[in-house]
Amino acid sequence: MEQHEVDVLIVGAGPAGAACGLSLRNHANKEVLIIDNSDLQHTRVGEHVTASIFEFMDYLNVADINQQSEFISENYGTTSYWGSQSANEHNSLFTAAGETYQLQRLEFDTTLLYNFVEAGGHVLLDCADIKFEQQVDNHWVVQLTHSVRGVIQIKTQFLVDASGRNAPVSKSLGLKRFKKDDLIGVGCFLDVSSLSLTHDQLIETTEFGWWYSANLPNQTAVVTFFTDMDLVKKHQLNKHENWNAALAKTFHMSKRVAGSQSLSDKLWLRNASSQLSDNVTVDNFVAIGDAAASFDPISSMGLGFAMSSGCFAAKAIHAAIEQESNQPLAVYHNDIERNFEQYSQTHKQVYQQETRWGDACFWQRRLS
Ligand SMILES: Cc1cc2nc3c(=O)[nH]c(=O)nc-3n(C[C@H](O)[C@H](O)[C@H](O)COP(=O)(O)OP(=O)(O)OC[C@H]3O[C@@H](n4cnc5c(N)ncnc54)[C@H](O)[C@@H]3O)c2cc1C
Repeated sequence: MEQHEVDVLIVGAGPAGAACGLSLRNHANKEVLIIDNSDLQHTRVGEHVTASIFEFMDYLNVADINQQSEFISENYGTTSYWGSQSANEHNSLFTAAGETYQLQRLEFDTTLLYNFVEAGGHVLLDCADIKFEQQVDNHWVVQLTHSVRGVIQIKTQFLVDASGRNAPVSKSLGLKRFKKDDLIGVGCFLDVSSLSLTHDQLIETTEFGWWYSANLPNQTAVVTFFTDMDLVKKHQLNKHENWNAALAKTFHMSKRVAGSQSLSDKLWLRNASSQLSDNVTVDNFVAIGDAAASFDPISSMGLGFAMSSGCFAAKAIHAAIEQESNQPLAVYHNDIERNFEQYSQTHKQVYQQETRWGDACFWQRRLS
C-alpha cells in the first residue's frame, strides 16, 4: 500500500479547495494534497461574480485570472422582474457592488488548480472509498482507493472539508448542518447562436420560484428555475416537458430564450439551499466554501465566499500550527457564523421585495 505524509489534506478540488491550497503553498510553504472523488469533468454551475474575486487572485499570485482572461466577460447588467412587472436594471439584487462578471466555470476552476500545482501542490483525482480516522495526537489518517494506484494511505496534520454543498466529510465526522430551505436549481444550457440576446442576465419570479438566465461565452446561455425540492417532485419539474411548460408560462424568460436549442436531453438538478455548518471546533479540522456555508444563488456569493473562506482558513491553519492551538480555528468559525447572519438578513429583505405571490408556499416559506 502506498503511504504519504502531508501537512494539510484538502478534500475537494473546487474553487475553495484550490484557493486554500494555493494560500497554504504561497503564504505558509506547507505540503498540501488535494483529493477529489471526480475526474473534474462534471457539469459546473454558478458563474456570476463581483470584482472582489480579482483581489483574491492578486493575493494568491494567480496572474492568469483577470478581467482580460478569455473565459471571463463583464456583465453589462441584469434585468429583473422581482417584485414588479416593470423591469429593474442593476448589477446584482443582493449587493450594491459595482461591476460584475460571468466566468466559464471549467476554465476558472481548472486554472486555479493548475496554479496550485505550479506552486508545488499535489492533486489526486478519481479517489473512492475515502475514510478518515483521527489519532490521539489529533493527526488524521486518510485511506482511499485510487482508480489506478489502488489503496493509498495519507497521514496529515490538518484535514480540510472543501467537498461542496453536501459536505460529505463534515457529515461523516458527525457535524450537523443548519438548513434554512430546500432550494434547488433545475436547469440546462442552451445554444443561443441563432438569437441576439439583448441583456446579459434576466431574473423573473413566478408563483413557484424564480427563473434565471445568463449569457455565457461561446454563444451559449444557462437557464435555471429555482424552486423547492417538494415542488419539483409535485410538479415533476425534473422532466423536460414539464419544465418547458413552466417556462412557457413566464412573460419575459420564455421570450428571451424562444428559438434556442437545449444542449442536452436531460435537465441538471443542483442543491441550492442556504446552509451553515455547526459552529463546533473539531481539532485539526476545518470546513471551507460551500461545505462551511452555502448561499442562495440570488446572492452570487458562493464563489467569492469559496475564495475568502479558503484564504482565511489557510491563515487560521497556519496560525494553529505555529501556536500549537486550535484557537485560530474557533475565530475562523465565528467569522463564518457572523457572515451567515448578515447574509440571512439581506436574504430576507430581498425576498420581502416580492409581494405578488404572498399566498404561495415558496414565497411564504422565505418570509416567515
Ligand atoms: C444552480 C446554482 C447556481 C449558482 N450560481 C452562482 C453564481 O451565479 N455565483 C456564485 O458566486 N455562486 C453561484 N453558485 C454557488 C457556487 O457554485 C458554489 O458556491 C461554489 O462552486 C462553491 O465552491 P466549493 O469549492 O466550495 O464547492 P464545489 O465547487 O462544489 O467543489 C466541491 C468539490 O468537491 C468534490 N467532492 C464532492 N464530494 C466529494 C467527496 N465525497 N470526496 C472527494 N471529493 C468530493 C467535487 O467533485 C468538487 O470538485 C451557484 C450554485 C448553484 C447550485
